[in-house]
Amino acid sequence: MLLEIENLETYYLTRKGAVKATDGVSFGVGNGEVFGLAGESGCGKTTTGLSIMRLVPSPGQIVGGKIIFDGKDIVQMSDDDLRNFRWKAVSVVFQGAMNALNPVMIVGKQIVEGILTHENVTKKEAWERTEELLDLVGISSERVKDYPHEFSGGMRQRVMIAMALACNPKLLIADEPITALDVIVQRQVLTVFKDLQRKLNLTVILITHDLSAMAATCDRLAIMYAGKIVEQASTLSIFKRPLHPYTKALIGAFPSIRGEKKSLEFIPGAPPELINPPEGCRFHPRCQYSEDICKKEEPMPTVRGDHLVACHIIQ
Ligand code: SF4
Repeated sequence: MLLEIENLETYYLTRKGAVKATDGVSFGVGNGEVFGLAGESGCGKTTTGLSIMRLVPSPGQIVGGKIIFDGKDIVQMSDDDLRNFRWKAVSVVFQGAMNALNPVMIVGKQIVEGILTHENVTKKEAWERTEELLDLVGISSERVKDYPHEFSGGMRQRVMIAMALACNPKLLIADEPITALDVIVQRQVLTVFKDLQRKLNLTVILITHDLSAMAATCDRLAIMYAGKIVEQASTLSIFKRPLHPYTKALIGAFPSIRGEKKSLEFIPGAPPELINPPEGCRFHPRCQYSEDICKKEEPMPTVRGDHLVACHIIQ
């Protein structure tokens, strides 16, 4: 495994108490794999991504667990080690990242500056690399001197992907990379993404609530609910035979990925406040299969066929 996360606990330490955004999260991602983290908003997906980058904003802190990347524990890295690690080993594209481009600077210069900050190369080499990167994301290198407002939203997002790849990272974390785009542009960006992943044998963690993007892109999925992973399996297996009631509900609430008509199901309620989550299984107030044990004991992840699933009832 390129990345192994063991029992990650990232809490936001507020005056009202600890918001347990990730509470015992464990998973691994292999070299060249595309791994998806799915679930509703507020279930800990973004905090998991930020923890891997050690970019959790205050008052957030990693209070427990390990994040082993290429044999080194990111949680224990010094500030110096982190400077070498971020962008070179692991890079990130955030939701709406395209809006982070400086509107008064040509896009090429913005990428060049990123390269010169992290790599020991000449300006000429940085400009050459920038042109290569733009080509890689399907933007003509002749546009290297254009300003951000001269690009469409999808192209600006591709510029941000190029920027994230500037230092040849082994792992790219993409947090809702297509959410701010319209549907047609979403498809274009996803296609670029898939091509890049194949060409570069890039390892990717895709964070999104969009299950059709997951189905089109990911090799394996983890479904998060209330700071915990409730199910993990191959993408095919999750969509063909979801086991956890929350996974079933998520898939039921999403339009068919094959485009056929189906009536959408509704998941009652909302994810709990993570400052004071329900006892036992955190999904029990919303689960139609809930039994007494679910309210008292937390279900531990167990292997069921090729799934890892945390549920007392599902066999
Ligand atoms: Fe539902 Fe119980 Fe399984 Fe939780 S443990 S998902 S409440 S059946």
